[in-house]
Amino acid sequence: MIRHSWQALDKIAASVRRGSVRAIDLTTEALSLIEASSEYNTVILTLKDRALELAEEVDRKVRRGQDPGPLAGVPYIAKDNFLVYGGEARAGSKILNGFVPPYQATAINRLEAAGAICVAKANMDAFAHGASTENSDFGVVKNPYDKTRVPGGSSGGSAAAVALGLVPFALGTDTGGSIRQPSSFCGVFGLKPTYGLISRSGVIAMGSSLDCIGPIANSVADAALVVEVLAGKDPLDATTVDRSKERYVTKPLSLSGLKIGVVKEYVSDGVAADIKQAFDQTVADLEKAGADVCEVSLPSTKLALACYYIICPAEVSSNLSRYDGIRYGYHDASSKNLDDSYLKTRGRGFGKEAKRRIMIGTFVLSSGYYDAYYKKAMTVRTMLIKEFESAFKKIDFLIGPVAPTVAFKIGEKTKNPLDMYLADVLTVPANLAGIPAASVPIGFNEQGLPIGLQLMSAMHSDRNLLGLAMSIEGLS
Ligand code: GLN
Repeated sequence: MIRHSWQALDKIAASVRRGSVRAIDLTTEALSLIEASSEYNTVILTLKDRALELAEEVDRKVRRGQDPGPLAGVPYIAKDNFLVYGGEARAGSKILNGFVPPYQATAINRLEAAGAICVAKANMDAFAHGASTENSDFGVVKNPYDKTRVPGGSSGGSAAAVALGLVPFALGTDTGGSIRQPSSFCGVFGLKPTYGLISRSGVIAMGSSLDCIGPIANSVADAALVVEVLAGKDPLDATTVDRSKERYVTKPLSLSGLKIGVVKEYVSDGVAADIKQAFDQTVADLEKAGADVCEVSLPSTKLALACYYIICPAEVSSNLSRYDGIRYGYHDASSKNLDDSYLKTRGRGFGKEAKRRIMIGTFVLSSGYYDAYYKKAMTVRTMLIKEFESAFKKIDFLIGPVAPTVAFKIGEKTKNPLDMYLADVLTVPANLAGIPAASVPIGFNEQGLPIGLQLMSAMHSDRNLLGLAMSIEGLS
């Protein structure tokens, strides 16, 4: 694997602000790294013209003695479901071919104001439905550690791009694990913040009560700096919450006396031996460092996957109804009338997975089945939230594996959708509860494939979670 290594984000930005490195050179470098790594298929569109313009602007500010911001000249890649000026936003789906966003996501605007430069759009499972990027209409992304394996999904392009060192950080979205699982599969750090901490405005919706935006980076400190720029209320997203009064760029937490719970249901028989071994080793390291590790049972986590695959498709079916062939992207011109146009555009434009979710979603919401499925799932969701709440009254953090296995082979889980859904079993509970959760690299299995550790903490304790992640990063 070719691997370019970037300095820490604050160092890159400091060099740009000092004038010792030019933003334009960093942008050009990232663009040529992307080109040289095309076999991995991490990127589906580069935003060269716009990126060079923005870099020029950063360099101009430096020359004029103005402050270009804390991320001055730092190149990054955004998942394709972010609306970014300078190119199409397709969310990995051909139904959005030709859709050029008329406005930009708040997250992109905030990064731009901080001096960061979006150089490309990352490949992803279409509409973020998936755990491998195999549902992308633009081909699968290859895992940087083994090209015959998936990078995880749906933010697989973002995670693989960071692992390859094409850019120092990338943006992903996490509705049921899509930042944490690819981060674990690619050996990088990924954070799904508290629901509402980062604005969803201008991000193509999947499941609106679950969707979170977050950074994927090579270090916790880099990710924290991105959160520092992105976090906080946005009038364009009514679900956003206040940011922490303190900076997210924090110090490693002292492990001594910290109460850490291992979720009993997360280390069950379904977890592969190599994952279990790396996990147990980290638990031993945490204990050696003075942490007070205990077992915590969250019985409803057993129901979480079933609950997620009712609530998520229900929201997906509603969110995807806007792709009518008239307002956005692809339109089938051969249609005879309005109904025919809907049928043809949606029939030809959506892939199998989107159609499956539309069917499941409309079914569980339909009269007669609503009480049996959707309402029941919402009850389970509340139970799960309560279990997390009471656990966090007694302990500081919960830990578990991110996924039951390391990166699997391309094609291994595409025959049976249920096999793919099962890959999400350990990540969806945090989305249903809205709590912050992260994946920190803790090592490799015997084949050299990366393994991540999942950390979870109470709502709005993102800053603490980053502190713990830093300590764990320091253990290895
Ligand atoms: N793999 C999960 C799904 O397919 C999660 C996707 C996501 O977080 N965007 O729903």
